[in-house]
Amino acid sequence: MQRNISREFARRGITNLTKYILINTHNCKACWKCFEQCPRRVFGKESRFFGLHKHVIVVSSENCIGCGKCIKECPHKCIYKNFLAAQL
Ligand code: SF4
Ligand code: SF4
Repeated sequence: MQRNISREFARRGITNLTKYILINTHNCKACWKCFEQCPRRVFGKESRFFGLHKHVIVVSSENCIGCGKCIKECPHKCIYKNFLAAQL
């Protein structure tokens, strides 16, 4: 039976991804380094609960070229190579 990959990502707290990277938004501290370093404007900023909770989101996944800058820049190791799709 084919699994629902999006649901499985969500279950793991991984709700934002591109073909090349994925973000664990639960660990995001909203420092915006990935947002500032991405050359293709893949990221946006999410704000919830009247600004009490913020995290980065993927807004243009199709723009991602897999350069890996966001992975290197994140000080909290929230961004990974998108290896899970092959495992699910
Ligand atoms: S891999 Fe590169 S293009 Fe893709 S989101 Fe990260 S910084 Fe942006
Ligand atoms: S660099 Fe990491 S902690 Fe900072 S906004 Fe991006 S994902 Fe969140």
